[in-house]
Amino acid sequence: MAKRGVLIVLSGPSGVGKGTVRKALFDQPGNDFQYSISMTTRAPREGEVNGKDYFFVSKEEFEHQIQTGGMLEYAKYVDNYYGTPLKWVNDTLDSGKDVFLEIEVNGAMQVRSRIADGVFIFLTPPDIMELKNRLVGRGTESMDVINERIKTAYDEIRMMQNYDYAVVNDEVDNAVERIKEIIRTEHLRVNRV
Ligand code: 5GP
Repeated sequence: MAKRGVLIVLSGPSGVGKGTVRKALFDQPGNDFQYSISMTTRAPREGEVNGKDYFFVSKEEFEHQIQTGGMLEYAKYVDNYYGTPLKWVNDTLDSGKDVFLEIEVNGAMQVRSRIADGVFIFLTPPDIMELKNRLVGRGTESMDVINERIKTAYDEIRMMQNYDYAVVNDEVDNAVERIKEIIRTEHLRVNRV
């Protein structure tokens, strides 16, 4: 039997640019990993293709998949379901290929609890660490606004602790290179089961 592939999960706060980084990564030649196409109940955007960008399904179909154990993880995001079909991920990993998921943070934590040897990458905005200093130093925002932003930033930093790697998305190309480096490194591990 082939050595099981590596599961790579890219996640991070909303608006950090996960989709853009993922697309740039997959636009590069020579990638040896497979993108898991998610299922969603949201309507296709202009130019999106069913079976390529997402599997676009009804709410009933999605809930049926949940009830019958068809999803590796799922989350509700802005009133729509998003989730990862389980069978395809397992079959692809079993065939020895690496699988790449790009999903929001609640889903990523569900995957973490089910596939412990996955590689979890947190994409972070460049300035999160300096946010507090900048906000307080600048003194242009009301204390309420500052507190709200700091809280959001700290919530995000706290989430980062559940991941194996943090990648700063300063420039898309830099983030892509860092992710490729992580994947190369993970392939050198000797203790992967
Ligand atoms: P969008 O509607 O912009 O395509 O995606 C909205 C959010 O859903 C993004 O943060 C994206 O990463 C996340 N997402 C896409 N597919 C999945 C999935 O299968 N599971 C989870 N949990 N989130 C997903």
